[in-house]
Amino acid sequence: MRAFPIPPALREYARVFKDAGRQAWLVGGALRDMILGKKVNDWDVATDAPAQEVARMFPRVIPTGIQHGTVTVLWKGLTIETTTFRVDGDYGDGRRPDSVTFTSDIREDLRRRDFTMNSLAYNLETGELLDPHGGREDLAAGLVRAIGDPVERFTEDGLRPLRAVRFASQLDYRIDPGTLAAIPRTLENFRRVSVERVRDELVKILLSPRPSYGLKLLEDTGMLPDILPELSACRGVEQKGFHRFDVLDHSFLSCDGAPDRIELRLAALLHDIGKPAARVEGPDGLPTFHRHEELSARGTEEALRRLKFPNAVIASVSHLVRHHMFAYDDSWGDAAVRRFLARTGPENLEDLLALRLADAYGTTGERPDPRGLDPLRRRVEDLLGRSRALSIKDLAIGGNELAALGVPRGPVMGRILAELLETVLDDPELNTSERLLDIARRIKEKYGV
Ligand code: ATP
Ligand code: MG
Repeated sequence: MRAFPIPPALREYARVFKDAGRQAWLVGGALRDMILGKKVNDWDVATDAPAQEVARMFPRVIPTGIQHGTVTVLWKGLTIETTTFRVDGDYGDGRRPDSVTFTSDIREDLRRRDFTMNSLAYNLETGELLDPHGGREDLAAGLVRAIGDPVERFTEDGLRPLRAVRFASQLDYRIDPGTLAAIPRTLENFRRVSVERVRDELVKILLSPRPSYGLKLLEDTGMLPDILPELSACRGVEQKGFHRFDVLDHSFLSCDGAPDRIELRLAALLHDIGKPAARVEGPDGLPTFHRHEELSARGTEEALRRLKFPNAVIASVSHLVRHHMFAYDDSWGDAAVRRFLARTGPENLEDLLALRLADAYGTTGERPDPRGLDPLRRRVEDLLGRSRALSIKDLAIGGNELAALGVPRGPVMGRILAELLETVLDDPELNTSERLLDIARRIKEKYGV
């Protein structure tokens, strides 16, 4: 039997179980990833000890789901999800077992798990490896295969079909034909899964090496319209010109082309969802999508809110989507570059450039030369070196100074400040209190205040 690279801290953790006369089996993703020679982050352990007992065995424990037998043990830098052997009861709502029955038999526990590759167990004390469902064989063949009858297993828990796609996408595996065929037959159960669980799997699909593969599986199995209907609406929306693909394939490919951060993957995936609504056929018969980015940004916000993404993610993804349409060339004057920065925020420049490259990849299917963006980068660096005044709060004078000139606080003051900013974006040299006060006096007269 091959030796697994078990960290010393995990061996120490396992010794606590041995001393208590209990078993500790490494299971789940950690074991799978070790067999595949991948880096492990989270550890899953199955034990015959009840959760209450585990909680007493260690000093730092999070009661993750005591009633389902799960506690999270924090031990010397490791996070170890520790679950009592169990047999799941009925999944009345297709979401989580109504009841769980605990068992003292690890083999019974392995039978309730979802896929063969997730049903191995490695005894941390004796080194015994259990693989009752042929998980290693499927890992070697690159197959995601449900344990037992896939329709039954997907009916029990509607999240499993989505997990099947997630694992296929993360590992670049195929889904066994029987398992794949069960997905369209159990969509009703999938539709009852909580949005948080769906979102977490979606994130893992999007962060996988080639998300387009997982996304295409979601479409082919019928799950996509329930997760992101606004994407399904992009199928068959043809584009012309440089574009080789319809809007949906373009979106999938753009997602592949984005760096593996969730904000960027989401922005690349959703940046064109406004196109079906924005599409207008020109007199030449060619479609145009004038100002689709605004519709895309609003649709993005709505979709991400529905999927309960954190507000910060929603804000930054919709901001990127709203501003993804720019085509810099050296005819842009300094004021144009400053206005672009004032609109988008210099802190978002690198993300916008990454989105630009992803979009270009999704258009042609070929990696664009990233050096194409260097001229804009240099330009921005140069301009920011000379002036960082890009918003009202950067102006040399503010509300207090205007009030001292006799401008009442309110909408007119806001408009004057906005005009001062426009002036400074045109010519940053004017951003001194003396010159701005002078200009403010003239604007004030124009407004008659
Ligand atoms: P990851 O690397 O994402 O953590 P994982 O396989 O460890 O992958 P977890 O969600 O941490 O996934 O679950 C740990 C184990 O619990 C799985 O390997 C599987 O054996 C079992 N499991 C998790 N979710 C389900 C489910 N919905 N149905 C059946 N078994 C499941
Ligand atoms: Mg895990």
